[in-house]
Amino acid sequence: MKYSNFMEVEFKAISVNEGFARMCVAGFCLPLNPTLEEIGDIKTAVSEAVTNCVVHAYPTSHSGVITMRCDIEGNEIKITISDHGVGIKDIAKAREPFFTTKPSEERSGMGFSVMESFMDRVEVENNDSKGLKVTMYKQIGNSLLQVGNAG
Ligand code: ATP
Ligand code: MG
Repeated sequence: MKYSNFMEVEFKAISVNEGFARMCVAGFCLPLNPTLEEIGDIKTAVSEAVTNCVVHAYPTSHSGVITMRCDIEGNEIKITISDHGVGIKDIAKAREPFFTTKPSEERSGMGFSVMESFMDRVEVENNDSKGLKVTMYKQIGNSLLQVGNAG
């Protein structure tokens, strides 16, 4: 039978939690037997998405929340990172390389481009209620044999 699993965590939108989010997803992926490169790719993409929530989502509040959900179906991992902050008016523009609304803080505007290059697919949408939802997908290679034994 196809391996299927999920987890969801909620944490405060502060930069110290970037490391937690990266390690959390990396650990959750382990039953898929990812390569070090695949784990590195996923951790980098998660860092970018979480950093965006920390830096951009809650400009006037110190008590924002980030929700991170991971779904595994077979050998594909889907990671959804959402916040309840200000959202993005023009998502297509925001996804362009080098576009940033914070050039003064030495942001390079490459976060979404990095997510796209390290993951197979990235979807960005405003939440129905409020805030942003980023969904990223990645196939973990050579894992079909192992996931069959993963329970
Ligand atoms: P870098 O990631 O290179 O440090 P950046 O964060 O500005 O710079 P992107 O990650 O590509 O670049 O994001 C582009 C723009 O999209 C941001 O400048 C910001 O205006 C907007 N943005 C991204 N994520 C969010 C979010 N969660 N909430 C609100 N706005 C966001
Ligand atoms: Mg960014």
